[in-house]
Amino acid sequence: MTRLPVRDDLKALEGYHSPQVDVRVRLNTNEAPVGPPAEFEQALARAVADVDWNRYPDRAATDLRRAIAALHGVDPAMVFVANGSNEVLQTILLTFAGPGRTVATFEPTYQLHAHIARISGATVVEGERAADFSLDLGEFRRVLAAHEPHITFLCSPNNPTGGVDTEATIREVVSLAPGLVVVDEAYGQFARWSAVELVSDDSSVIVVRTFSKTWSMAAARLGYAIAPSWVVSELDKVVLPYHLDAVKQAAGVIALRFVDQMNERVRAIVAERERVVSALQRLDVDVFPSGANFVLFRPRGRAGRAVWQGLLDRSVLIRDCSGWPRLADCLRITIGTPEENSLFIAALTEVLS
Ligand code: PMP
Repeated sequence: MTRLPVRDDLKALEGYHSPQVDVRVRLNTNEAPVGPPAEFEQALARAVADVDWNRYPDRAATDLRRAIAALHGVDPAMVFVANGSNEVLQTILLTFAGPGRTVATFEPTYQLHAHIARISGATVVEGERAADFSLDLGEFRRVLAAHEPHITFLCSPNNPTGGVDTEATIREVVSLAPGLVVVDEAYGQFARWSAVELVSDDSSVIVVRTFSKTWSMAAARLGYAIAPSWVVSELDKVVLPYHLDAVKQAAGVIALRFVDQMNERVRAIVAERERVVSALQRLDVDVFPSGANFVLFRPRGRAGRAVWQGLLDRSVLIRDCSGWPRLADCLRITIGTPEENSLFIAALTEVLS
């Protein structure tokens, strides 16, 4: 049997690697440290009992779109929902990128922007961030002038660096970019300002958000975009019919009843993040400022990989970014429960001593 080779343009593609290891302290994938409120689980159990299992779900996810629209104060026609923000990103790229089109990213940033763009068949242009990982508007102008990208990606707070772009920077980018601007706000609840304000039917801005982080629902795979309604209409044509199952739609609607509790959790995570950052600053590592639920740091004078392994040997799993381009020796820790964070700090102190 001869094996059919993959598409020529995918031959060099590497998969997405994030090891799932059985450890005591798991702080590697930027999830919420605790599950949703108990009332959420009870309400969801009741909703599951009411599902018409023999029927396809509401294809337009009407109630969920309405609830998300109310949360952001936009028209439901400006909401697109899918299985995790990754599927939202994929749908945007299948619809507006693809062969013959160009997508710009500013690296280092969330790897899947470039990864999914390449799978769509688009050409990816990687701009560089400044040394402190902030967006460099000079570089931005250079990339736009040289490549005129159809889609430009921003990510604020940026994964994996943690930096937050200022409102002024994002407004400037939006005014300069020729095609669509996608602002990935997977960690948007941690920032003071949201680019949702810039989305209107007369703009080319799409803001992408997720239920995986603040909403403690990574297991459910639910994300959405706030976008001009003409963009949403196009995305609706490309995404598979009935892609969003009935249980997930119900879970999303119910989750949005708990906005106050979620805001309280964000405050608790930020307080813990500040504690972790102070602890890191007392150790022999460089810490990058974070406006999210994770912190990037670089051990001084040590191989990042060896420090990561030392932590793993102590049953603490964090994200090893040390081999990623532009992030030599860097590691990223997700803020966990106070207990998990203390175990991480103790383990890191031991590894570095
Ligand atoms: N965007 C960013 C910036 C992320 O960090 C992540 C998760 N790591 C996602 C999107 C994808 O999240 P999900 O598919 O779980 O919504």
